[in-house]
Amino acid sequence: MARYTGPVCKLCRREGEKLFLKGARCLSPKCSVERRAYPPGQHGKDAQFRRGRGSDYALQLREKQKARRVYGVLERQFRRYFGEALRRPGLTGSNLLTILETRLDNVVYRLGWADSRNHARQIVQHGHIAVNGRRTNVPSYLVRPGDVITIREGSRKRPYFKELRSYMEDRPPAPEWLGIDLDAMTGTVTREPERRDVDLPLNEQLIVEYYSR
Ligand code: SF4
Repeated sequence: MARYTGPVCKLCRREGEKLFLKGARCLSPKCSVERRAYPPGQHGKDAQFRRGRGSDYALQLREKQKARRVYGVLERQFRRYFGEALRRPGLTGSNLLTILETRLDNVVYRLGWADSRNHARQIVQHGHIAVNGRRTNVPSYLVRPGDVITIREGSRKRPYFKELRSYMEDRPPAPEWLGIDLDAMTGTVTREPERRDVDLPLNEQLIVEYYSR
């Protein structure tokens, strides 16, 4: 599946907030949102002063774009996820977040095995991860309750995974819906993630409104 390959800090500046797309750099003074707190582009600085509340449509669009960028999903797939969220029982917005959270690249990131979702995506694509004992190199694979995610035996000897424990000290702990056994280098999906488990400043209702126009 295709992905955005352009400069990622631009995306944060466009949304006017940190989307944490670059791991440790996001917490350092080098973060572009802190150094250049205005939209990207030739007229970015002018736009900074023109930035008002915006129309309802503009707010909905920005919220949808923000969610897409945080999870690294292109429009076509995001729209597909929205369709799936509509079909599931319950609130469409919460369903959408549940689907996004259960992507394998997000799970690897949430377990603390990667610095960012982009990094997690690379780890998955390079074949270091197995789901229920089977090598899985598809970042968009959706995990289900009971699934066991492991770092594959051969990959554990690599310097990055040998040092993983020390890297994980600086990363957020795994959320409640994921169990983690560091000795076995294993994570387990204990239940489906709910809205309260998603610690992102997203207003999913605006995304639902965007696609319901
Ligand atoms: Fe966004 Fe991180 Fe770049 Fe800052 S360093 S602009 S939070 S991706």
